[in-house]
Amino acid sequence: MRKLNLTFKKLNVTESIKIFKQFPEKKLRQVINIKFPLTKQVKGAIALTCATVMVLSASYTSTYLRTHENNVFSTDSFTITENGKELCKVRDAELLDSTLSKLEKNLESAYQHEIAIESKYDIVPSKAKDNEIVSETQLYEILETNVNYCMLAYAINIENEQVGIVNSEYEAKSVIEEVKDYFTKNYDEKSIIEVATAENVEIKQVKAVNTDIKSVEELANYIIKGTDEEQKYIVEAGDSYWTIAGRHNMTLDDLISANPGSDSEHIQIGDELNLIVPKPFLNVQVKRKITQEEKTPFETEYTYVSYMFNDEQVVDRKGKYGVSQIEALVTEQNGIQIAKEVLSEEVISKPVNEVVTTGTQDPPAKKGTGFFINPLPGSMISSRFGSRSGGFHLGQDMAKSAGSSIKAADGGTVTYAGWSGSYGYMIDIDHGGGFTTRYAHCSELYVSVGEKVYQGKIIAAVGSTGVSSGPHLHFEVRKYGNVVNPASYIGIQYR
Ligand SMILES: [Zn+2]
Repeated sequence: MRKLNLTFKKLNVTESIKIFKQFPEKKLRQVINIKFPLTKQVKGAIALTCATVMVLSASYTSTYLRTHENNVFSTDSFTITENGKELCKVRDAELLDSTLSKLEKNLESAYQHEIAIESKYDIVPSKAKDNEIVSETQLYEILETNVNYCMLAYAINIENEQVGIVNSEYEAKSVIEEVKDYFTKNYDEKSIIEVATAENVEIKQVKAVNTDIKSVEELANYIIKGTDEEQKYIVEAGDSYWTIAGRHNMTLDDLISANPGSDSEHIQIGDELNLIVPKPFLNVQVKRKITQEEKTPFETEYTYVSYMFNDEQVVDRKGKYGVSQIEALVTEQNGIQIAKEVLSEEVISKPVNEVVTTGTQDPPAKKGTGFFINPLPGSMISSRFGSRSGGFHLGQDMAKSAGSSIKAADGGTVTYAGWSGSYGYMIDIDHGGGFTTRYAHCSELYVSVGEKVYQGKIIAAVGSTGVSSGPHLHFEVRKYGNVVNPASYIGIQYR
């Protein structure tokens, strides 16, 4: 008993045991309804049991009150605040960081994008009852509705000026690669020694909103063109680069540089042409080692003869370009060569000089002399002027091989040069004094309307165009518009 008493004392319930021991036997029998006589030992055992139950229940209640929401006591906690405003209380201070990083991860996977939490949370020690404490799930929900965050993206800066933003550092690098590829796409990869940008390029992490972020393709195009502006033209029937450029106040060169890779000589109806001349933000310099064939020009040797006029010439032998194979180091910026260093040159073929015969005589005055020479010397008259098989032949036909030179019978002004129905290619010359001459069925015309010619000037080549049965010159002479017999005028003073 003493021993037990000591234990009870320890538990601070000695008083209740004393009361229990003094309890009258009769009352105790009634309470616990025992039929057998209560010895001192039994009484003691009952007392001990009851005391133990009381002690344990007192102890349990005290713990219960301290740790459950029904508790009336406030115990150690932490208050989470944002800008001085209390959000909630937690027991474990580390819960804030772990919940925030979980939230960040979930946001990143939802947006498929790096984000940064901008809200600043403070955590300070406090006291709280259990019913004031939030669970981990509740804390997550509170932070999720309250948090401010931004996207972390990557800007491309050219010479310290931001030109655009993309999602990631990898994408930013891809943009630069795409720009470089654009300016090197036409090169043989094996020839490229170095690709560099003329400007300083930096990639920097920045905060951004979704709408600021461009795709790799968008930003690369923007850097290549130097603008977002788009202006397209669809090629129509009859268009050429020259007419399209003129209609849009562009030079031909501008239109060509706005459409690299497009063949300016061969456009087709429906082709789409760019009308914005690119002014790239990045100048890509490509150093290449190239081997190419180069033309070397030929010279012209002249032979002078007295029977020709000095404005006439005959090519006796056509010149030929020489060919050299060169190896060179070239630097091109945005496709335009800015430097070239020839490393070696090998002559494959030498140029062949052109040989030309020209005259020493000053040409006569470009006006009528009043005398007609034979327009086709060495020819044969194949049909005369006058009545011919039920009709009337307006001139005389002079046969000579196709391509022979037709000369102006006298000086004057060309009044017609072109196609004229059954005459084929035809020339009319006005010699003044009411006289004109006509040259028909030509294969080629060397003069044009309005041109002044001198007597003997080669004006056309013999052909068989229009209604003609073989190569010949149909030659007419007219006086005040009326045909006269050419045979009566060739070789005489007509006025
Ligand atoms: Zn004829």
